Amino acid sequence: MRATALVVGAGHAGLAMSRCLTERSIDHVVLERGEVANSWKTERWDSLRLLTPNWQSRLPGYGYAGDDPDGYRSMGETVAFLERYAEITCAPVRTHTAVSCVRRTEDGYALATGQGEWRCRVLVLASGACNIPNVPALAAALPSNIATLTPMQYRNPGQLEEGGVMVVGASATGVQIAEEIQRSGRPVTLAVGEHIRMPRRYRGRDIQWWMDAAGILDQRYDEIEDLVRARNVPSLQLAGYPDYRTLDLNSLSALGVKLVGRLAGMREGKLQFSGSLANQAALSDLKMNRLLDALDEWAARNAVGAQAEPRERFAPTRVPASPPISLDLKRGEIRTLVWATGYRPDFSWLDVPVFDRKGRIRHDGGVVDSPGMYLMGAQFLRRRKSALIDGAGDDARELSAHIASWLAGRAAHPHERSGAPRERTAEV
Ligand SMILES: Cc1cc2nc3c(=O)[nH]c(=O)nc-3n(C[C@H](O)[C@H](O)[C@H](O)COP(=O)(O)OP(=O)(O)OC[C@H]3O[C@@H](n4cnc5c(N)ncnc54)[C@H](O)[C@@H]3O)c2cc1C
Repeated sequence: MRATALVVGAGHAGLAMSRCLTERSIDHVVLERGEVANSWKTERWDSLRLLTPNWQSRLPGYGYAGDDPDGYRSMGETVAFLERYAEITCAPVRTHTAVSCVRRTEDGYALATGQGEWRCRVLVLASGACNIPNVPALAAALPSNIATLTPMQYRNPGQLEEGGVMVVGASATGVQIAEEIQRSGRPVTLAVGEHIRMPRRYRGRDIQWWMDAAGILDQRYDEIEDLVRARNVPSLQLAGYPDYRTLDLNSLSALGVKLVGRLAGMREGKLQFSGSLANQAALSDLKMNRLLDALDEWAARNAVGAQAEPRERFAPTRVPASPPISLDLKRGEIRTLVWATGYRPDFSWLDVPVFDRKGRIRHDGGVVDSPGMYLMGAQFLRRRKSALIDGAGDDARELSAHIASWLAGRAAHPHERSGAPRERTAEV
């Protein structure tokens, strides 16, 4: 079977690219191992809501049309949103078609799938940035009576034994899961490493509104000073609760969650925590305040300030004066450990030499270092918002333009842009 272009993955990134390829009359097929929106259907916990407001899920030719633009979609609503997008764009998706191997051919790529071989000239990798949860090596040494879970295995507190729970990681996933488990009556200890504190609402508006309006989410990969760092910053400490409340270390402490430093190792059955909790919290407060300063300055320059509520600052993060630096698992305090230590993509099926020494795909703004191969949906691929649903549209428009030029025999420049960048403000 053959198509000019093959897209691997029918999440929002693959669907946005499909729509842009259709607009350019480039024949293509989207190969999906599960169903449309598979990750949202099968890999998320029950109570999860998007941390981006409804208005902020703009895809090429599609957006939110309901009466709750500031609300946050449940998983069911997210799946329905993407299924509807696939339907209205008539995306040529082949479901239950897992790509198990990709190799280079003379004129493109050959893809082995459970449904036979596909060939193409252009290959778009839209298989997701969060396929595998990161689990530190020390997990292997944990005593067998401690149950461990990744966020992909976690569904709700009911699946956990009674007793204490250690959540490792305090970015969006970790703080949300910690809060839910603590509220279920299981005492939570949260190991806190680097994190980015963020108020849910600021001066009467959603923080995402501010970052979108001030152009922070549009910052481009070719304008940023430290791209490697930007591609590795943790997710913002945010949750999409219907009551718009802020979720941070202070709100967790108020619920009774115990804070400890970053999990640094394990010795003789004791978890060891770094002594950096106070520093990490202070650094996070500093970064948040720097961002809020930048937003205030932007607001003042752009006459938004007069309409917005007054400038506000938040109480510094409270941390215990001397948090424990070890925890003896033999004491039985902890029955379950949840690894909220980030995610990484899975390209184990890509048998083309496009990886750097750290196993990351070599690419320039999504133009992969192999002729006719493209990447979508990765963190800061072309813009700060690239891994968000809202970021796929601009990336797909630019990369589909590159694909069209490449197919026409014109080598386009990867930095090709479809519009002028907006005024630059702070970096997060
Ligand atoms: C817990 C969590 C919460 C998030 N919350 C938000 C949020 O609130 N707002 C927001 O904008 N973003 C959010 N994101 C980020 C982002 O939207 C997701 O990472 C998103 O799923 C990425 O979209 P994607 O289309 O690139 O990948 P995915 O949605 O993961 O889609 C990739 C698709 O490729 C398929 N696939 C993978 N490998 C193969 C293969 N070998 N063969 C065939 N098919 C394959 C998968 O089944 C999947 O359907 C969140 C991410 C996570 C992990």
